[in-house]
Amino acid sequence: ARPLSRPSHPRIITIANQKGGVGKTTSTVNLAASLALGGLGVLVIDMDPQGNASTALGVDHREGTPSSYELLMWESAIEDLMQRSPHAERLFCIPATIDLAGSEIELVGLEHRERRLAEVLNIDDLVSLGIDYVFLDCPPSLGLLTVNAMVAASEVLIPIQCEYYALEGVGQLLRNVELIQQHLNRELQISTIMLTMYDGRTKLAEQVAGEVRNHFGDAVLRTVIPRSVKVSEAPGYGMTILQYDAGSRGALAYLDAAKELNDRSDRLVSHSEGTRDSA
Ligand code: ADP
Ligand code: MG
Repeated sequence: ARPLSRPSHPRIITIANQKGGVGKTTSTVNLAASLALGGLGVLVIDMDPQGNASTALGVDHREGTPSSYELLMWESAIEDLMQRSPHAERLFCIPATIDLAGSEIELVGLEHRERRLAEVLNIDDLVSLGIDYVFLDCPPSLGLLTVNAMVAASEVLIPIQCEYYALEGVGQLLRNVELIQQHLNRELQISTIMLTMYDGRTKLAEQVAGEVRNHFGDAVLRTVIPRSVKVSEAPGYGMTILQYDAGSRGALAYLDAAKELNDRSDRLVSHSEGTRDSA
């Protein structure tokens, strides 16, 4: 990977789509690894109790391991929870353990239940930790874990699978983002749409891609992630595609996508220069 230039502010990006299996986790870990291999500081916070991002990043997430649960409960700080991924010098992960599974319900009873994560994820800390990117990998729902991720972030990245029913549920996701913008986080923007699992041999994939580009315009990355068996095999070895097969089509696509994402840093406008308004 070629060296990448650092964005002027740390970027906090939520990867969301309440549909399961669209490539949220795969995109999170592969973009994170690509950016880190380009020399940037990257932190993945695993917000899905399944812990798939933690697995692919090769960090410990057995029951009892300090995790994103402790972060949400305000029991520990970021720097005490982040583990270094063996995959790159400056790639870190706050893992998810099974403890997170009950937290959707636990959160309901807490004060500031939508802002638990936002309160402990501040830009100054990220700067002093040398973090350029934070990725929040969400579970396949629009529950409180996803809401917390959206309130803590300034950007949403939506992966869309180039298959039947690709846009199913996206309308609901957009309405949720709007509600969050209105009530909880004015700064949030849908900065990036990423087309995943593209099979160039099918007419359908091409049609879906065209539809998504018509609808979302510039937000859609030019790079498309191909469907590839290797991409799906990598997590089984505790790796991203960048370790599993660095020369593969999937790896090259994620490196391109990461570069494109990073090149767009200047395009983002901040409404409040890092400070979020309280609801
Ligand atoms: P989500 O996090 O949205 O539930 P995942 O990233 O876990 O989705 O992907 C769902 C499944 O699809 C996983 O088994 C994953 O390995 C596989 N997958 C993801 N991206 C690709 C791809 N580009 N090509 C082939 N399989 C993929
Ligand atoms: Mg996932």
